[in-house]
Amino acid sequence: MHDDRQQTLDRLRRILTRRLPDAQSTPTGVELDLSVWHVPGEPVPAAEAIGRDDYVAIAPGDRWGRAWSTSWIHITGTVPKELANQPLELVVDLGYTGGPGFTCEGLVHRPDGTPVKGVHPDNSYLRLPKGTTSIDYYIEAAANPDVMAAGFERTPVGDWDSAGDEPLYTLGTIAVVRPEPEVRGLVHDLEVAGQLAAELSVEQARTWQLTAAIGRALDRLDLQDLPGSAAAARAELAPALELPAAASAHRITAVGHAHIDSAWLWPLRETVRKVARTVSNVCTLAEEYPELRFAFSSAQQHAWVKEHHPHVWERLKKAVKDGVIIPVGGMWVESDTNMVGAEAMVRQFVQGKRFFLDEYGVETDEVWLPDSFGYAAGLPQIVDQSATTYFLTQKISWNRVNKFPHHTFWWEGIDGTRVFTHFPSADTYNGTISGGELAHAARNYADKAGNNRSLLPFGHGDGGGGPTREMVERIRRTGDLEGSPQVGIDTPAEFFSRSRDELAETGGVWSGELYLELHRATLTSQHRTKQGNRRNEHLLREAELWCTTAAVRTGADYPQETLDRLWQQVLLLQFHDILPGTSIRWVHREAEQMHAEITAELEGLITEAQQSLAGEGSTPVVFNAAVAERDGVPALGAGRTRERAKVKVTKQARGWKLSNGLVTVRMNSSGVLTSVIDHQTEAGEADREVLAGPSNLLQLHADLPVLWDAWDVDSYYRNTVTDLTKVDAITQIDGGVEVRRSFGDSTVTQTVTLAPGADRVDFSVHADWQEAEKFLKAGFTVDVAAERSAAETQFGHVFRPTHVNTSWDAARFEVCAHRYLHLAEEGYGVALVNESTYGHDVRRIDTGSAIATEARLSLLRAPKFPDPDADMGEHTLRYALVVGADPLKAVQEGYGINLPARTVEGAGDRVAPLVRTDNPEVVVSAVKLADDGSGDVVVRLYQATGGRSRVRVATDFGAKDVAVTDILERPVGAKGPKASPIRADSRLGRVKATLRRDEVELELRPFQLVTLRFSR
Ligand SMILES: [Zn+2]
Repeated sequence: MHDDRQQTLDRLRRILTRRLPDAQSTPTGVELDLSVWHVPGEPVPAAEAIGRDDYVAIAPGDRWGRAWSTSWIHITGTVPKELANQPLELVVDLGYTGGPGFTCEGLVHRPDGTPVKGVHPDNSYLRLPKGTTSIDYYIEAAANPDVMAAGFERTPVGDWDSAGDEPLYTLGTIAVVRPEPEVRGLVHDLEVAGQLAAELSVEQARTWQLTAAIGRALDRLDLQDLPGSAAAARAELAPALELPAAASAHRITAVGHAHIDSAWLWPLRETVRKVARTVSNVCTLAEEYPELRFAFSSAQQHAWVKEHHPHVWERLKKAVKDGVIIPVGGMWVESDTNMVGAEAMVRQFVQGKRFFLDEYGVETDEVWLPDSFGYAAGLPQIVDQSATTYFLTQKISWNRVNKFPHHTFWWEGIDGTRVFTHFPSADTYNGTISGGELAHAARNYADKAGNNRSLLPFGHGDGGGGPTREMVERIRRTGDLEGSPQVGIDTPAEFFSRSRDELAETGGVWSGELYLELHRATLTSQHRTKQGNRRNEHLLREAELWCTTAAVRTGADYPQETLDRLWQQVLLLQFHDILPGTSIRWVHREAEQMHAEITAELEGLITEAQQSLAGEGSTPVVFNAAVAERDGVPALGAGRTRERAKVKVTKQARGWKLSNGLVTVRMNSSGVLTSVIDHQTEAGEADREVLAGPSNLLQLHADLPVLWDAWDVDSYYRNTVTDLTKVDAITQIDGGVEVRRSFGDSTVTQTVTLAPGADRVDFSVHADWQEAEKFLKAGFTVDVAAERSAAETQFGHVFRPTHVNTSWDAARFEVCAHRYLHLAEEGYGVALVNESTYGHDVRRIDTGSAIATEARLSLLRAPKFPDPDADMGEHTLRYALVVGADPLKAVQEGYGINLPARTVEGAGDRVAPLVRTDNPEVVVSAVKLADDGSGDVVVRLYQATGGRSRVRVATDFGAKDVAVTDILERPVGAKGPKASPIRADSRLGRVKATLRRDEVELELRPFQLVTLRFSR
């Protein structure tokens, strides 16, 4: 038989795109009056916009909306009696230019100020209530620019001041129409049949039968009377759409969703509105389609609705109660997970889950992170200890090199905790239920031997309005359709529990980090945003520690509400386009400002608490918030410090020599380190040379990726490198040397110093950075034959090979480390510790005589999109080389550089720590008062070096009892409403703690995390 299938599908496309769209409704001719008020600056509440007397006339074809501005459009009209009882819709074309979420959008309000529904491209209608005789609506229209309009090229539109005053949009038609249900039904039927036929192969009879049925249906259609002939065309197609799916068909759980980035190519305040529009849409859509289920993550976005849109909040709460909207994710935001510190990652879950529990009584059971840029190996344990069972992402499908082998599997973290994980095999979190998507999900699914089931989040994200009625109609038609996967709407929980039942025993295991082979530059871009994060994570630790100590020791008030608020702000700024540095200038300008304000407030809390502990007087006392004793002052306590020996700095013929008795550093006249001698090596060994090549060498690379400027650094960046060895001046400073350099339009001042009595070389870089598309690194070549590097992640470290034997190793050419990177061979190691750097690269170097290791810190980048000013200006970065470092030393120095000692004048008495551990390998992550206001002391600690540790935790505040809790401070293994619902198979259940004479003895496995709650 001749193959005319393609002709039929081409014919179908023409009719679907050119003829049927306008026939889906009929104009009513109702006359509408339109007027507008252009808000002069930032958005105002509805009450301020509605009812003003300075609205002016506007008409279709008029220009409106400079970038980021808001216009309120008032629509009035009278519906004739003969129409009033017919189904009617108001359709609003604001003049959309881009796809949903990336153009203008609006929220329709009633005259009393209550929001009704959003209007967006693909979703621009409002169903009028039956019996409507007069129309009176206000649309809050947001003129959001499409920042991506010119691809990845430099654009000024990313901030209010630079965006320009020209109106961006031309108002389109606003009209009252009568829907044509048969034509709409026909459109959905034809779309589903045509898209399915296009996915099937020529060998399958089904593709021929479907295409033939489509052809006959199109023959039935009278192009001059589409509404009148649509039913006949549908009848022709119906038998082909009634054939049931095969028993082995892939099953897809479709979950309504809208991936709304909390800030990205728009500022935070716009997300508040995007969320309100989307939630309004979902609640409205569910009135028409009660089967709708919508997964809504990010407690912060729920909290915005509560704070800013009380009417939408009431609808949201009802939808949650009705089971239509399902809170998921259990995190405060969908954060980055590579860079977020251990304790902050805990708080993402604590704050997120607590919000959902307090507001809805819902215990979320699945992590929902479809879009973050890779997943740290420390995460599974935190997920488990938040009493969360499942994990969802799909981002790893973005890998540029290696295809991930699973879609449903057990993900194993550094401590051995396994979390049941699913990657939607449709490879998207913005599903539209197209035939192509469904077929791809079925073909692509990698774990077919174990089960045949995937989840598909569907709906327009980023303020595109979420799921549409067209999507739900397509789901209704693919529930049981021959040749198609079986698609049904359900909840993530239902999907996960079925899938886990099927794969509990046979599921594959992936051990270690879920590294994204893309977006590697997000570890470096927008350094000031990252530095603010690191600084405030540590200031929060200090504030909680000293405020708790002051509350217990002096009865001072514990600032619970303030700490909660500051935590929530820091957590928000860890969102996966803010901390990674991939947002517009507006967002990063605000992030830096917010971080500065948070710092000021935390410094105030710390000062107040320390002052109350130090008492009256003028004797200096040193407070030590780090994890190791510091010059005689215990960790988590305060006291007087011991004197230390001095540092000798000598100018030599060709450079400088620094020595403190433990370490000797030599630097050449270019200001580059040529030798570091460790005098403290193991007994019997001679002094050891640590370096195998020039070190603390600043290197500048050209850095223009193929795409995604702020996100990506591509491997070819290494091919072009300039060593910055030209010196403007070298001068001696206290304890070391200062080197000034200039290059391009930039200047840097480096310092190299030794601290008295420390086996570490300290470095700082102060840069006035004015480059374009450049990458600045600080390199160290150490005489250590490290087979692998150990990079700190949450509550431990992750090992990565230093070789590139496999394509997986080679793809990890830029990696994340938190406070330390440890490099070791048997018997000797070094650590690079840092105060605000996350990106690193490590590789093996053949020096001619041996294999050495090169490790570099990624200091600064200069991408020009989406923020053309990213990273320009002043930066100060600090890092250090620790010699003779074992894993424990790396941990301690990592804390040390981020938690400098503070000297406070007072009575001169020591302040005893509230808790002490007798094993330094068990490290305290947090000391705080319990979130429930009970006054209980919560201590979170973990095995930090990757071994097994027996530890005695001694308390010094009259503890009455102790409980092992989940990270939400709920006792594990207890009964009652306050007990943790953590799964019975969680490793945490095996940790036993009993209080004897103010002490608790614990046995911890490698990297194990434990939260203890002491009543007093
Ligand atoms: Zn995202």
